[in-house]
Amino acid sequence: MMSKTTKETSKNVPAVKAIQVHKAFGDLHVLKGVDMTVEPGSVTVILGPSGSGKSTLLRLINQLETLTGGEIDVDGEMIGYKYVEKKGQRVLQTLNDKEVAAQRAKLGMVFQRFNLFPHMTALENVMEAPVHVQHMGKAEARELAVRELQRVGLGERLDYYPSQLSGGQQQRVAIARALAMKPEIMLFDEPTSALDPELVGEVLNVMLDLAREGMTMIVVTHEIGFAREVADQIVFMDGGVVVEQGGPEIIDNPTEPRFKDFLQHVL
Ligand code: ADP
Ligand code: MG
Repeated sequence: MMSKTTKETSKNVPAVKAIQVHKAFGDLHVLKGVDMTVEPGSVTVILGPSGSGKSTLLRLINQLETLTGGEIDVDGEMIGYKYVEKKGQRVLQTLNDKEVAAQRAKLGMVFQRFNLFPHMTALENVMEAPVHVQHMGKAEARELAVRELQRVGLGERLDYYPSQLSGGQQQRVAIARALAMKPEIMLFDEPTSALDPELVGEVLNVMLDLAREGMTMIVVTHEIGFAREVADQIVFMDGGVVVEQGGPEIIDNPTEPRFKDFLQHVL
């Protein structure tokens, strides 16, 4: 497969594989059999109208929600469940908290709203999880946080509080915070949707750099320019199903009427 960013990996398994994924909230059937494969080191952009289930899919991958049907594998491993032998039968068992935490540690997530701790500086925000989740020493966590903040262009803003930073800068702190946990895969859920237009570019540039470094990324966005330039794969969702998917060229040559219609509204 041709890819702009795919890097060599030892394991020959997809980074993420969704197989006939279903999700219902009570009577509301939100995902109705979603299939998606994300190769290691590639960038997948998920497009689709509001309410089509994009956030739900990301939240399922990150185990913030539980499936009601189908399967998701991350790094070749089924998430949330494992097979065990019981009375000579192979049965599915839910993973315990520790096992779930180990799977979730492979993923970093960035949301539309930055969710930074307002009473902590940029540096402290990025140090928080390495210190309190990974039990890293403070000195080491500080070094790591400085590096990650430099990586997103905020080496000069280490001691600023969120209220002293622009929305774009806050979102870059949120990206640095996710990267500090050394994820294999980054999930972005409309990371620029809450930003003033003049601040969108600085966040997309950080994401572009990450993609060039070979990070596996799944990005929900309405930034078609970013999708065209950076994506290896486009997945268009509508009504809880994947309506069309392919390389970035499908943006300029959509097949499905619903995708055509969507593009006319966002372009
Ligand atoms: P998108 O991100 O594409 O806009 P979402 O995945 O956020 O779509 O939502 C898809 C549908 O699922 C919407 O109708 C939304 O209201 C519904 N939904 C999402 N999360 C929940 C929830 N926790 N409880 C009930 N309904 C939900
Ligand atoms: Mg959403």
